[in-house]
Amino acid sequence: MALPRLNTPKYKVKLPSTGKEISMRPFLVKEEKILMIALESQDVEQISEAVKNIIMSCYGLDDLSELTGFDIEYLFLQLRAKSVGEIISLQTKCQDEKCGGVTPLEINIDDIEIINKEQERTLLLDDDSGVGVTLNYPSLESIAKLDLSEESKVIDVIMSLIVECIDTIFDNDNVYDAQSEGKDEILAFLESLSSEQFGKVQRFFQEAPAVYYKQDVSCVKCNNENTIELRGLNNFFT
Ligand SMILES: [Zn+2]
Repeated sequence: MALPRLNTPKYKVKLPSTGKEISMRPFLVKEEKILMIALESQDVEQISEAVKNIIMSCYGLDDLSELTGFDIEYLFLQLRAKSVGEIISLQTKCQDEKCGGVTPLEINIDDIEIINKEQERTLLLDDDSGVGVTLNYPSLESIAKLDLSEESKVIDVIMSLIVECIDTIFDNDNVYDAQSEGKDEILAFLESLSSEQFGKVQRFFQEAPAVYYKQDVSCVKCNNENTIELRGLNNFFT
């Protein structure tokens, strides 16, 4: 005899980058299992692949290339809220290292916002020559492609991410399509910057829009007020 099938409910979610409404169904046990296995592996590539697949199935999207990283983070949190529950439970460490207190914190996913949504993507690096860059946000693919092995140096990882994200390089007279110039050319451009100019580029990524939550929590052990700031999806699940 055929067993009964359950209807899955539908929800509307607004895409943060464009405000467009899309429809979502919660994930099913079989999908949650894949996600759990990926999370336990702690392998960045496997996790991002699982997150990507589950978002595509549950939002009915064919590919995610048009979405920004913070869209994906937000869609994932909304999916988590409707599938598992609105509350995320975390343990927060006291900011006074000598205390060692660990205080539980419950976060309602509805209270998580997106910070710096209106960030300027054009950076002027030199006033006189008018040299500057426009930057794209890293895609899930470009993050997954990063070489995060022990031997790779942090600066090389940062450099290769920035190379991927430079959209145009311009001066007073011209705009160059960076990606068609080739990666070596972009890298040479980056290496020709002063450290102050390079710092500006790096800051763009540090300040990029992300899912964000801030809350004062008083430590269970010493009673100190700790300000807990969570930024980016990883922070909500560790
Ligand atoms: Zn404490």
